[in-house]
Amino acid sequence: MNLVLLGPPGAGKGTQAKRLRESLGIVQLSTGDMLRAEVASDSDLGRRAKDIMEAGDLVPDDLIVAMISGRIDQDDCKGGFILDGFPRTTPQAEALDGMLKEKGLVIDYAIEIRVDDEAMVKRITGRFTCARCGAGYHDEFQRPQADGVCDKCGGGEFTRRADDNAETVRTRLKAYHEQTAPIVSYYEKKGLMKGVDGMASIDEVTRQLNRIVG
Ligand code: AMP
Repeated sequence: MNLVLLGPPGAGKGTQAKRLRESLGIVQLSTGDMLRAEVASDSDLGRRAKDIMEAGDLVPDDLIVAMISGRIDQDDCKGGFILDGFPRTTPQAEALDGMLKEKGLVIDYAIEIRVDDEAMVKRITGRFTCARCGAGYHDEFQRPQADGVCDKCGGGEFTRRADDNAETVRTRLKAYHEQTAPIVSYYEKKGLMKGVDGMASIDEVTRQLNRIVG
C-alpha cells in the first residue's frame, strides 16, 4: 500500500507514519528527515536546503522531487511506503503522479490529519526527540517517565529541531495553507482523499487511520 499523509506541521504526521510503518510493515518516507540528514552530512543538497529550512520556507520542488524519486527506487520501498511531508505543492503532486506512472505504481489513499492552527504552535514549540532512537516527546503533553531518560531506549540525549521555534512555525503554517492545502482538492478530484481528526488523542487518530487502511 502506498499512502500520502497530509497535514500542517505538528499535526502528527511523523508520529502516525511511524505507527503505520509498524502495523502495515511499509516504510516511512519523510522528506523533512531526509533533508535534515543531508544538512547533517553537509552534502550539496544539505547546503542548499539549510537556510531555507531554518526560515520555515519550502525547498525548491526540483530538488525534492529528485530526492524522493531516487528513494522510492530503493528495494525497501517495494512493499509500499508512506509519504510524510511530500507532496507539499501542486507541482510536487503532479511530479509524484508522473514518476509513479513511470514506475508502475499508484497512491492508494491521501489522508489529511485535520487540526487547529493555534494548537499547532504549542505542540511544535514543546517537542523534542531522543537522539539515539528518534522517539518523540513534548515538554507538556508527553514527558519521558524519568526526566532526561528515553522511555524506549534508555538514551539520555535529546534534540530539538532548529525550525521548531514560534516564529518559524508561523512561517511553516503559512506555507502549508498557501502551498500545501490546495493538494487536498487535487486528491479529492482523484477520489483518493480521506480525513482524520488530528485533535483527538494519538491512539484515537491511529484507530481512525487503521479504519481507512485496514
Ligand atoms: P518537516 O519535517 O516535514 O516539517 O519539514 C521540515 C522542512 O523541510 C520544511 O519546513 C521545508 O523547509 C523542508 N521540506 C520538507 N519536505 C519538503 C517538501 N516536500 N517540499 C519542500 N520543502 C520541504
